Amino acid sequence: MELACLDLEGVLIPEIWIAFAEKTGIEELKATTRDIPDYDVLMQQRLRLLDQHGYGLPEIQEVIGTLDPLPGAREFIDWLRERFQVVILSDTFYEFAMPLMAKLGHPTLLCHKLEVDDKGRITDYLLRQKDPKRQSVRAFQLLNYRVIAAGDSYNDTTMLKQAEAGILFHAPQNVIDEFPQFPAVHNYDDLREKFLELSERY
Ligand SMILES: [Mg+2]
Repeated sequence: MELACLDLEGVLIPEIWIAFAEKTGIEELKATTRDIPDYDVLMQQRLRLLDQHGYGLPEIQEVIGTLDPLPGAREFIDWLRERFQVVILSDTFYEFAMPLMAKLGHPTLLCHKLEVDDKGRITDYLLRQKDPKRQSVRAFQLLNYRVIAAGDSYNDTTMLKQAEAGILFHAPQNVIDEFPQFPAVHNYDDLREKFLELSERY
């Protein structure tokens, strides 16, 4: 039994916060965990910025709704789902990802959740668990699945380590250099090839 686990942002869709910052012109929203390593500090800053600029969930979803998956992502995920059971493991929030998941054909997504008041203001966020990507892979392995995982960044590396096989896709050079144990590919054709190569069934 084999399962394919994929990161979402940077692998199938653009980085949501960066795309949102570009669409709205709010420069400070471009900060990521690379700039502010403490995720809680980063999220508090993001929520504060949204408040300052008067963006609630409906406005954010409207902007996100104008975004598209990365070129070739839909074809890739369709191809992968014909050959593997696929689960997307992401550190985004359901409320943000849903408009884009529709454009990917609604694959299974495990991620986090926002707390929103009745006026649409985002008041808080609920992380599903600590180290959620690795914990998900562990759980699938307990169900006797062999996992092949692919991701593009630091928050994927514990998932890639836990999986029977891990692939870096479109990762920045510093991540590739720091994790030489994972094969690194840069386009969907090579990623398809890697999945087939690392599979025990093909
Ligand atoms: Mg990513």
